[in-house]
Amino acid sequence: MKIRFLGTGSGASVGSRRFKSGVLIDNTILLDCGTGVNFRLDDLSLSTKVEVVMVSHLHIDHINGIPEVLVQRAVNKAPPLKIRSPPGFTSYFRSLKGIGNVINAEIIEDYLPTFKNDQLAIWSVKADHAIYGVAYVIDSYDKRIIYSGDTAEPVDEILEVAKDADLIIHESSCIDDCKQFGHTSIKEVLTLFSGKKVILTHIPAQLDHVMRTYVRENIILAEDMSEYEI
Ligand SMILES: [Zn+2]
Ligand SMILES: [Zn+2]
Repeated sequence: MKIRFLGTGSGASVGSRRFKSGVLIDNTILLDCGTGVNFRLDDLSLSTKVEVVMVSHLHIDHINGIPEVLVQRAVNKAPPLKIRSPPGFTSYFRSLKGIGNVINAEIIEDYLPTFKNDQLAIWSVKADHAIYGVAYVIDSYDKRIIYSGDTAEPVDEILEVAKDADLIIHESSCIDDCKQFGHTSIKEVLTLFSGKKVILTHIPAQLDHVMRTYVRENIILAEDMSEYEI
């Protein structure tokens, strides 16, 4: 699987160095689409080509790029974007349409969203966040990737599915403790997933220099537009 980070910032991240959440798999599957991720897709000429967006939860930093993608698709007469999301996205979409935006999408809501195509199967487990959210498991042939979305670890279900993972893409929103906000610190991620290959994302740009000191073998700090193959 080819993984490209389109947005690696947290909700509190400032500036354009790290846009908000977005991870692209094989140029067709987008895990979250936060603010600015739409521009990365435009730069790659993929706004009209992405097949599906898997939404982890409905916080603004994970969905705010989607309306812009829908506009690009409407303008270019591209097929409706598929959106798989926990309940609530349809209401957001309808409110945008209701105030006059001409956009289209194929939305399926589920408490545990799934998606399948010829190459891969995506399924989800419940996360532990400030609002309802899920973590995604992406299985393709003999490879497995976990995408945590936003979550306060430890979450038994996530730890369980991560045991067999070839790569864990995990949020890392602070240095020491941000459990009260429904997030996981870099120290907790490194402890809980020691021995695994981890790419850290959801990084406040303001903490970039401190986060960087934790990088070591198998622990990577994602950058916007960085690419990996698994
Ligand atoms: Zn977030
Ligand atoms: Zn969130």
